[in-house]
Amino acid sequence: MQAILGTIRATGAASFTWAARGVAPDIMEKAARRVDEELFRLVLGVLGLRERHDRLGEQERAYAEARFNLSARKGGLALGGCVAALRGGYLGGLVDLARSLRAFYNTFLLSNLMPGADAVLQEVRQDCDKDAKLMDYEDIDALVEGRRTGKAIQHDASCAYNDIVFKGLIETWGPESNRTACLIGSQGKASAALRAGARLIETRLQDGEMRTNYALMMCLPQTEHGPDRQCTCGAAADANPQEGWHAFVCIQDSQRQAAATDSAAALVAVLQGLPRVTPFGRPFVNRINYRPDEPTFEHAAQHAGAALIDEDAQPVAEGAAAPHKRRFDTAYRTNVGAVFKYVDFKKVATINNGNLKEACRQQGVAVEAGDKGKFNSYRKSISNLDELHKRGVINFASSDYCGMISEGYDKLLKMIATDAYPGDFGSNVDVDGLRSMCVSRLRVAVGAGIWRANHKTLGAWAKRAYPVGPVNDNNNNNN
Ligand SMILES: [Zn+2]
Repeated sequence: MQAILGTIRATGAASFTWAARGVAPDIMEKAARRVDEELFRLVLGVLGLRERHDRLGEQERAYAEARFNLSARKGGLALGGCVAALRGGYLGGLVDLARSLRAFYNTFLLSNLMPGADAVLQEVRQDCDKDAKLMDYEDIDALVEGRRTGKAIQHDASCAYNDIVFKGLIETWGPESNRTACLIGSQGKASAALRAGARLIETRLQDGEMRTNYALMMCLPQTEHGPDRQCTCGAAADANPQEGWHAFVCIQDSQRQAAATDSAAALVAVLQGLPRVTPFGRPFVNRINYRPDEPTFEHAAQHAGAALIDEDAQPVAEGAAAPHKRRFDTAYRTNVGAVFKYVDFKKVATINNGNLKEACRQQGVAVEAGDKGKFNSYRKSISNLDELHKRGVINFASSDYCGMISEGYDKLLKMIATDAYPGDFGSNVDVDGLRSMCVSRLRVAVGAGIWRANHKTLGAWAKRAYPVGPVNDNNNNNN
């Protein structure tokens, strides 16, 4: 499934948009709409999500289709989008053509050959943000004279139309709704797992994992049978919709540790193949569903100068582990002076019981709160935590189900890449791009780990909350 979707991504809308370059938008519009619709139908079929889609109301279906078409930058799946690309493709193609003609006929003016072209540019300018680069060019001839490549022009215009769809969705669903929060939370790099390929073990995803997460991004139902019903934890039906958002906050969620472990496993899988760094504990081969060895706080005291707060002086709460027995999720060692760096992972709900308004306004609210919570908890056991955290010795790595990672997690990925590829002569410049490639590889792996975790959480919830009716094995047996 992952390979098929990758192929559709590389060929479907991309091929159409390429072929439509330089062709007037009104000629292509009907065809573009048709391609978008058919791609949507095709992908729902590949994923086995058609029935779940058909179960929804008209407005929810329109939302799903919009998320399907939107660019990944704007929180979409970027699998369609032919309509949004039309005007940009037209202008970009024309500008490239005009420039090659001007090389031979230096008096050539595009406005003479294509009198209608300027109207399309003006249309796009009207729809663009005021600070978009296209706004610098007043008419089509100025655009040809300018320095922007056809490809860049195409990109600018597409962005403008993606923005319009994005804002339209927020208007439809309001400033405080789960669908708005999901859209905001999925923007930009949050959906790194979309780039995950089936070739590498750390980014390979099972069919059920693909289905669950594509459904999550389009806000389709997560169960084979609706409608909304009361959760076994007592949550009312309207607080437990079939889209599955309740699964991540349900007090009966049994998958929390497993979900955090997925993040750790994905990261360590990449780490162990990198030069100059070694993961803590046993090596592992050909598996992604495993739990890496966990170093204790004691280990950090011995190897990294963590000052543990004396457990005798400070009474330990009943049931809590004594400081030196507590554990991090993983660690790695650099070969420069054998320095250890420790990581604690946390998987949080993008939308929890109290943050809906904020989650709709800003991306990453939940993950920053997650890191902060960890920090406060660790401070009770390690007296020099602030200093160790600052030096990158102790790291917190929160992620949410939309795929967003905390600032601390992002810093950790960059630090790993710098440790693996320090660069010659102490240079900070990433001359050969190895570091940025490494960060990107880590980010996609982490994204795939988040998707595996989502599937576990939602699969367990679906079994718990919807025990009657046909169970799609492929969706639930992947734990
Ligand atoms: Zn529940």
